[in-house]
Amino acid sequence: MISDRQNARQWAAATWEEVQGLDRARTVAILPVGAIEAHGPHLPLATDVVIAEAMARRGAEMLAARGVQAVVLPALAYTVADFADGFPGTISIRPTTLTTLVTDVADGLARHGIAALAIANAHLDPAHLAALHAAVDVGPIPIVFPDLTRRPWGSRLGAEFKSGACHAGRFEGSVVLAERREWVRQEIARQLPALEVSLAAAIREGKPTFEEAGLDRAYCGDPAAATADEGRETIETLGGILADAVIEAGVVAVPEP
Ligand SMILES: [Zn+2]
Repeated sequence: MISDRQNARQWAAATWEEVQGLDRARTVAILPVGAIEAHGPHLPLATDVVIAEAMARRGAEMLAARGVQAVVLPALAYTVADFADGFPGTISIRPTTLTTLVTDVADGLARHGIAALAIANAHLDPAHLAALHAAVDVGPIPIVFPDLTRRPWGSRLGAEFKSGACHAGRFEGSVVLAERREWVRQEIARQLPALEVSLAAAIREGKPTFEEAGLDRAYCGDPAAATADEGRETIETLGGILADAVIEAGVVAVPEP
């Protein structure tokens, strides 16, 4: 919904005087973190950016509804994506670059008195997740990072996600359909056979690339089953995970209901 998009405060669209006017000691800034990475023959390279931005926006709205001021930062599009590096279009950066960048962004927020940083992330490359956790460990302000591969967060998501077949399939395709229908090659998606390969299991077995994990076209799961309705439900769940993580972390004051 258009109005939903406008409800979340956007750091990029704010003026400095508007930021000055925030109750910054009670404000959490949300950083969407995505990737530029192959997502099957049917989804855009920026799929994880689209998902992270939707999670951030919905999370900010849910926090606002609970009396917590949240502002959505411009998304970080580049990250570690070595699993997909064999596919044209993927741009992978070093883990240390990501950790430093997130830490520096947190430093900038800290200098201006923002209470906490929250990370909205749906890119699950293990080296990427480790680099984000490294930033959490050294952040100058509290950094809240609900890692979807850890308890309790991932258990709220659908069956495909929990099966580990969670790259460019039904789960991710549904969110992109809900957010950017025009970026989905639906005529291709409808033809793709389901591929029940667990990327999570392949990662545990130490396989370092999509090719070795059996994702010959950089997807697994069931792309043809994606729907915009499921995408909207998934965005509700992702936003709820982010909002709950911020509130449970106790990093900003929450008004009594
Ligand atoms: Zn993805």
